[in-house]
Amino acid sequence: MSTTLFTEKAYIGGKFITGKKTFPVINPATGRSIGTVPDLTIEDTKKAIKAAEKAWLDWKNVSVGDRCRLVRKIFELIDEHKEEIAEIMTKESGKPLTESLVEVDYANSFMEWFSEEGKRAYGETIPSTKPGTRLATIKQGVGVVAAITPWNFPLAMITRKVAPALVAGCTVVLKPASQTPFSALALAKIAELAGIPKGVLHIITSKDSKGVGKELATNTLVRKISFTGSTSVGITLMQQAATTVKRVSMELGGNAPFIVFDDADIDKAVEGALAGKFRNAGQTCVAVNRFYVQEGIYQEFSERLITAVKKLKVGDGLKKGIQVGPLINKDGLEKVKNHVEDALAKGATIGTGGKVIKDLFFEPTVLLHVPHQAAIAQEETFGPICSLFSFKTEEEAITLANDTPFGLAAYFYSSNIFRCQRVAEGIESGMVGINTGMVSNASAPFGGIKQSGLGREGAKYGLDEYVEVKYLCYGA
Ligand code: ADP
Repeated sequence: MSTTLFTEKAYIGGKFITGKKTFPVINPATGRSIGTVPDLTIEDTKKAIKAAEKAWLDWKNVSVGDRCRLVRKIFELIDEHKEEIAEIMTKESGKPLTESLVEVDYANSFMEWFSEEGKRAYGETIPSTKPGTRLATIKQGVGVVAAITPWNFPLAMITRKVAPALVAGCTVVLKPASQTPFSALALAKIAELAGIPKGVLHIITSKDSKGVGKELATNTLVRKISFTGSTSVGITLMQQAATTVKRVSMELGGNAPFIVFDDADIDKAVEGALAGKFRNAGQTCVAVNRFYVQEGIYQEFSERLITAVKKLKVGDGLKKGIQVGPLINKDGLEKVKNHVEDALAKGATIGTGGKVIKDLFFEPTVLLHVPHQAAIAQEETFGPICSLFSFKTEEEAITLANDTPFGLAAYFYSSNIFRCQRVAEGIESGMVGINTGMVSNASAPFGGIKQSGLGREGAKYGLDEYVEVKYLCYGA
């Protein structure tokens, strides 16, 4: 690859290093390797954690103004190199280049936001009820942070954690997904160019997710673990982190409903449906998984959605005009195939699509009259499938939307302000899109309730995840 940001080395203690073993990274659009990275071990992880602990002792004493300026510098460098990073991202994740460019900007908006917000980690003074004493609080960085991130947003899931951690004075040991290590390593290159001191950021590339993950979650030097990925792995990490009482942030799976009421603007709802469903071929934790459409407009909405879905261009994301890329790997494809087959077996019909095109490419699909017992209604599909269910009343829609152990994102369309208020309050999820299919924004709190996670990323709340409140009591 013709970029200075592409490296096949991991990053520990401020050095780009090789490993005894390596593993290839496959472009899901072509099935070919785009390079190899070191397959680091638990021992390497221990070394990185030690180095992060050592670096923390200095980094926490760098003034917050200087820390924020360095993060601002990362922001500027990412902005300068966004085309290069987007190309790396498309090659390792398969997402269309236009989407990679949007992701780089989105990822970078966390660098920008936290380079400003870092300065506002205010403590407070508290009126004392005890004569002569003075009470106050200060906020201090938690210390060494471990971060584990998934492949579906190879940069944004990292910057959401790294940006607030760095400005708060924490050091970070990051394990990116083995499918997409190159975007993470490009960030390490940029951090080095920006002047982030050695040892403040480490990138462990490894195939041993379980071993490295366990070390990160149990090592006593790590004070906090922040994870984005599946609920099952999140539960394992929480159990492991409990043994040393670490702080945890968990951004886990979703099962987003998208409700279209009779009084909705159907064109806008179709537009929102495409944005909420087909970004990254449906492989996002906030992707719409269940479309609930009110009886009166079911026919019209489904026809317009099918027309729009038929126009989507599928292919290698590096080619111009492509809107939907491949699925990440065989397992991802199998899950999508199984969900479609299961829905059809239980009585759904095909509006459009429904088949594998070739290799990891699946047709953008609309399934009609899906029964509520179908697997697709219960589990995250992570693929380009719109499954349409119908409902009669507002209460029924809310009950159906909430009938899941998850609660990350939800969307609904209505032009009635009172209904908007009622439904927004009645839906059990951390984020609600009202007449929009996109909710992500660095200035707003991203996160889930129920089994979708703990904590928030972005916004002022995203900084709280990386600081401890210390209470100071001054005697008379
Ligand atoms: P996804 O379906 O997005 O791959 P996972 O939860 O399996 O979701 O993976 C998210 C991240 O968690 C990846 O970086 C993966 O390597 C890592 N991971 C997978 N299994 C474990 C584990 N047992 N412990 C720690 N990390 C893990």
